[in-house]
Amino acid sequence: MKKIFLLALCLAAFSASSQEDAQLKRQVRQAINEIRSFVKIPNDALDHADINRNLTWLEKTFNARGFNSSILATEGESLFFASLPMVDSKPTILFYMHLDGQSVDPSKWNQPDPYEVVLKSPEVDNWKNQAFEDLNEDIDYDWRLFGRSTSDDKGPIVMFLNTIDLLNENEVEIPFNIKVILDSEEERSSKPLPKAVKTYRELLEADFLVINDGPVHVSGKPTIIYGCRGITTLSLTTHGPVKPQHSGHYGNYAPNPGFQLAQVLATMKDADGRVRIEGYYDGITLDENAMSVLKSVPDDATTINTNLAIKTPEKVGTFYQEALQYPSLNIRGLGSGWIGDQARTIVPESATAELDLRLVPESDGRKLKDLVKTHIKKQGFHIMDTVPTRAQRMAHDKIMTITEGNVTDAFRTDLTNPYGDFLVNTLKTTLNEDVVQIRIMGGTVPISPFINELKIPAFIVPMVNPDNNQHSPNENLRIGQIAYGIRVFYGLLSTKMQ
Ligand SMILES: [Zn+2]
Repeated sequence: MKKIFLLALCLAAFSASSQEDAQLKRQVRQAINEIRSFVKIPNDALDHADINRNLTWLEKTFNARGFNSSILATEGESLFFASLPMVDSKPTILFYMHLDGQSVDPSKWNQPDPYEVVLKSPEVDNWKNQAFEDLNEDIDYDWRLFGRSTSDDKGPIVMFLNTIDLLNENEVEIPFNIKVILDSEEERSSKPLPKAVKTYRELLEADFLVINDGPVHVSGKPTIIYGCRGITTLSLTTHGPVKPQHSGHYGNYAPNPGFQLAQVLATMKDADGRVRIEGYYDGITLDENAMSVLKSVPDDATTINTNLAIKTPEKVGTFYQEALQYPSLNIRGLGSGWIGDQARTIVPESATAELDLRLVPESDGRKLKDLVKTHIKKQGFHIMDTVPTRAQRMAHDKIMTITEGNVTDAFRTDLTNPYGDFLVNTLKTTLNEDVVQIRIMGGTVPISPFINELKIPAFIVPMVNPDNNQHSPNENLRIGQIAYGIRVFYGLLSTKMQ
């Protein structure tokens, strides 16, 4: 009797879960159709008409799900905003995603039109085109959708919308107020955003911000990211003779700007890649809890080093995640005279190094730029922000022209935040898997001004596969990630915060 009862219980559980699976697959199938129709509308961030067509599509699609939506004018392209009817007693989540995409060069894609989604299955070393009708019987989660913004960032918007459908179908009451803000200039650094957030402050008010952009950790495991590094840039140019000179006539006589630049650059870092500029790493401490979170990320140093084909990494941190907790000082480009077949026997007139500085919350970009400039001054350089005149050249031995880029601040939400705990626990329970917690990611999402203005905890909850070719030709979205995204959104929007 007992056995039969247990068997019945197992069968019931099995059929409940297989019913859930079937329901999820049905929703994934619908999401695929919707991704195709959304991607069909080109979304080049540089094309105003494209962006407007996308806004119209979003308005229609969100409103059909019961959202109140509005198009928010900014100094640049408009933003899209939507919310469900609000209940005072519920906490409010603000979701941030973006509708614009990188420009495309169709000649570099393995399909005629990057805005016409193509379905492909993985083969050995290759991808094979498949017909969408083949998905009607069953869906293979390893197949992929290829097209611009399938992953970055239209896919997640559609996953969100299809989760709302599923919640409605299952008559789940969402224990949160929902607001959604969709950026239309993310790929152009979101310049209008800081001012727009000030203007629409009240509308955007929320208890926490969830950003669904970028890929999950390379391990493919569920991921929550607490922050991202900021960025600023410096361009350094040293000056030799006023015009390039014959190296036979003037080698050994006219000072060489390449050597001058190399000498000053060499003073900035030690042989292990650590910055030697005074104060560069000031204020950064990693407590035990932070270190244990950093160490728990399943990075494999051997894989990373093999991928990069490097023998020994720099020693800013003792491992990859630790290294990202510090500001970087990177030479992103270096140039003087000509090279390769073009090399000429000259003493060049100038040499330039382009630097980028990735920032962490402890290291203000303006301060770091000043530290670099002070350091250069200490090496005996006369610093200018223009090209020196003949008279200025003759008045100083070593001149450097420095131009500065804008600062995009870093952001990082505290690791011990109740909303962060809620997200981690919900993902863990929903997916029955450990969650990778990234304290700060290396790259820069141009939304920190936005976060700094609203002053609410922010988390990146990525949805898409790490090998999605974001920003490149053949961008793609693994269908399994659509199921993943729907499950994650469903978990978040059906779990009450304790
Ligand atoms: Zn993106």
